[in-house]
Amino acid sequence: MPGTAAQDSGDGAGQRIHLLDLDVDQLRTWLVEQGQQGFRAKQIWNWIYQRRASTFAEMTDLPKKLREQLEQHFVIFRASEVEAVCSSDGTDKLLVRLFDGGEVECVLLRDGIRRSICVSSQVGCAMGCVFCASGLDGVDRNLTRGEILEQMLRLQSRLDEDERLSHIVMMGMGEPLANLDRVLPALDEARSPEGLGISPRRITISTVGLPPAIDRLSKHGVPYNLAVSLHAPNNELRTQLVPVNKRIGIKAVLDAADRYFEANGRRLTFEYVLLGGLNDSDDCAHQLLGILRRRNVMLNVIPYNPVAGLPYVTPSSKAIADFKDILVSGGVNVMFRQRKGSEIDAACGQLRRNRQSV
Ligand code: SAH
Repeated sequence: MPGTAAQDSGDGAGQRIHLLDLDVDQLRTWLVEQGQQGFRAKQIWNWIYQRRASTFAEMTDLPKKLREQLEQHFVIFRASEVEAVCSSDGTDKLLVRLFDGGEVECVLLRDGIRRSICVSSQVGCAMGCVFCASGLDGVDRNLTRGEILEQMLRLQSRLDEDERLSHIVMMGMGEPLANLDRVLPALDEARSPEGLGISPRRITISTVGLPPAIDRLSKHGVPYNLAVSLHAPNNELRTQLVPVNKRIGIKAVLDAADRYFEANGRRLTFEYVLLGGLNDSDDCAHQLLGILRRRNVMLNVIPYNPVAGLPYVTPSSKAIADFKDILVSGGVNVMFRQRKGSEIDAACGQLRRNRQSV
C-alpha cells in the first residue's frame, strides 16, 4: 500500500525505522530485545521478500500485538510511487519519490521467461556523461540499502503470483560504484535465500569505471557481472563523452576490469552508447576492436536514446550495422540492446527529467 509510506514520510520519516535498512539478524536482535521470539524475524522476512507483503497487517500468522508493535517502530515501504508507465512491450517504469522528496526511477522488463529489473543507486549522478539524463543536474545523495531494496520489492510486487524476478541490473540512475557501502548490503539481501534469492550470476553492476571501487568489488569475491560503460575507444573522445575519464584514463579502467575478470572469472561486459557522428565511425570501431579483441568480453552496443534538450542523434540503421560488422568480423561478441521501453523513456533518468520539464 504505497499510501502508508507516503504518510509516514510526511509526518517525519525519522520516527519510524525503514525495515529494509536492516538485515534479518538485526531484526532478530530487536525482536529478542522486545521480549519476542527470534524465529519471528525469518517469518517476517518471508512475508516481505517471498510473499510480497508491504504492510504488517497482511502478516496474519503473527500475533496481533506483535504486528502493532512492528507498525509502531518500522515502515516497510518508505517512499511513494509518483508514476507508473507501462509500455506495450512489457516494460514497466516507476518513478519513486523518496521520503525527502528526491526522485529515482526503476524498471521491470519482461522478456520471454526473464523478469529483469533495473535499479537506481543514487539520486542524480555525479559522473556527468554528456548524453545521459540522470547526471544533468549532478548528484543529490546516495540511496540507502533500504531505498535500493524497496525499488526491487515494488517491481517484484508488479509480477503475477507465479512469476519470479530473475535478473537484476544496477543500471538505473547513479553510479553504483560510488555508493558501494549501500549497494553491496542491498545486493547481499537480493541474493540471500531468505531475501530475493537471486544468484549473483544474474546480477549485473554497471559502472562508468572507477578503478579503486572495481578493485574493492574484486576483493569482495561475489561473482556479480561487471559492465563497464566505455563509450569511446581513446582518451580524447572518452573524456569528451565521459568527463570523469580525464582523471582516470582508459588504461586504468581496462586494467581494473581485467583484474576483476581474473578474480571472479565472470566474462566482462563493455557498454558503448552509439552517438551519431561522434563515436560511430569505422575508425572508432577499429580502435575498439583493438581494445576488445584480446579480451573475453561481451560488447553491448546501445543506440543513443534521445534526451530532450541534448544535441545528440541516434545513428542510422546503416551506421549501426556497419559498426557492428567491423567488430563481429574481428571476433568480438556483440550484443545490441533492444530498445525495450524506449517509448516510455526507459533510458536512465529520462522519466524524472521529462516530468520536471512539464
Ligand atoms: N553509472 C553507471 C550506471 C548507470 S547508466 C554506468 O555509467 O554504467 C547505465 C547505462 O545507460 C550506461 O551504459 C549509460 O551510458 C547508458 N545510458 C545513459 N543515457 C543513455 C541514453 N540517453 N541513451 C542510451 N544509453 C544511455
